[in-house]
Amino acid sequence: MSPLDQLDRTALLIGGDRREASDGATLTTENPATTEPLADVPAATPADVDDAVSAAREAFRAWRDTAPDERGRIVHRIATEIRDHAEELARLESTDQGKPLSQAESDIEGAAAYFEYYAGAADKLEGASIPVGPDQLDYTVREPYGVSGQITPWNYPANLFARGVAPALVAGNAVVVKPAEQTPLSSIRLAELCVSAGLPEGLLNVVTGYGDPTGQALAEHDGVDQLTFTGSVPTGKHIMRTAADSVTPVTLELGGKNPAIVFPDADLGAAAEWIATGIFTNVGQICSAADRVLVHESVREELIDRLAGVVEGYTVGPGTEDPDIGPLVSEAQHETVSEYLEVGRSEGATVRVGGEPMDRPGYFIEPTIFTGVDPTDRVAREEIFGPVLSVLSFEATDEAVSIANDVEYGLVAGVFTNDLTRAHRLTRELEAGNVYVNTWFGDTNQTPFGGYKHSGIGREKGLEALDSYLRTKNVAIDLGT
Ligand code: NAD
Repeated sequence: MSPLDQLDRTALLIGGDRREASDGATLTTENPATTEPLADVPAATPADVDDAVSAAREAFRAWRDTAPDERGRIVHRIATEIRDHAEELARLESTDQGKPLSQAESDIEGAAAYFEYYAGAADKLEGASIPVGPDQLDYTVREPYGVSGQITPWNYPANLFARGVAPALVAGNAVVVKPAEQTPLSSIRLAELCVSAGLPEGLLNVVTGYGDPTGQALAEHDGVDQLTFTGSVPTGKHIMRTAADSVTPVTLELGGKNPAIVFPDADLGAAAEWIATGIFTNVGQICSAADRVLVHESVREELIDRLAGVVEGYTVGPGTEDPDIGPLVSEAQHETVSEYLEVGRSEGATVRVGGEPMDRPGYFIEPTIFTGVDPTDRVAREEIFGPVLSVLSFEATDEAVSIANDVEYGLVAGVFTNDLTRAHRLTRELEAGNVYVNTWFGDTNQTPFGGYKHSGIGREKGLEALDSYLRTKNVAIDLGT
């Protein structure tokens, strides 16, 4: 049976009810490996968003008063429910988003792990007692905001759904999620599984639809007390401006243009493998992708040869056949990345591998390595969000650090060296929220993740993510006579 057979197409989840959009409008999601339509899902109106926020606010009251250990048990059951449906969810994600099946499986396992991890924190959200002298008792309590509005992108739909929903629920909030219009299916199914796991009605609401009006209506809604947005820098800035009107706190996870700095003493074979994984996983549609290599001149040719060797062995095909390289998510993304291939060439970069859209149905682009890239080139500075690696070189360590930091982004940076002192010094110099040494994608569900500079504010993952969903109340009690 296809995972699509199990999907309820009247897919808005509002207050425990499944609904169509109030005006009956739908959007069509397609299979990026074939460009054929997959499913029509509702395109929620602002009135639907309003209903979802009201349902969340109503459910919040009882959830806030539910004992924390009970909240944790319910959230833990969601993890079990996801694991029980892991294969179906992975197929659905691979079909809708295009990613290789084994990568979708890993995303779903990660989604279950988020619910598990945060479930354990539910009864450990402690405040502090503050000594201010004998005449006053002073303590803090950590309280949920109320309704968390969450807007997710198309590159890791299921995994990012869990990354935001799990800590928000555990902290005692209700949630309204607006998934990306290109990839709504796994969020619809995950929401159903949350309900079947026993999550009380109205605590989790899903409004599928476009950025505007659906996402916009959520971002500007007066009844939303906290916003979590993952997506592009321009939309993130727009969300922040919108939230300013109601002084709503925002967590923003935005883009990256992440450098991998390779020194001559590194294990070049391992570095090439990590960097290829870093840029070609999910065909480069990852905010933390290894977008640019900064390699020491003395080992430049050897590293490029090794990278080319890895890429030339890649298989290509529909995600459900589990190749190394699947399609890009959409026609728009295919156009954007194709344009960057032209831009790179016109700026004088050399194509070492790939360099062309593929002549086959679906949104496939050859995994590409540009060499001889200059730090001022657009392909060295702008986020491409596709399977395109730009190779730059340096002579001195200071030069590498300055090239690495001289972009508007600051999400992730990597250092490949066996010199421990150099590694430690660089982790300090690099302007990024996450630094990997001799690895890539070193972050886990338990480690805080987020950006410096235009890459975002706030942290997702790890215990630190809970700070986005809790506010501190200080209580001062006079004990004096
Ligand atoms: P996008 O900004 O176009 O869309 C993201 C989401 O915002 C979608 O759900 C979209 O419908 C919604 N949206 C669009 N306009 C809106 C509006 N006016 N009001 C409210 N919502 C609106 O981004 P994208 O193209 O879907 O995703 C790719 C980008 O996301 C890349 O830049 C990538 O780096 C970034 N990203 C970051 C992380 C991270 O954790 N830092 C993770 C994944 C993706």
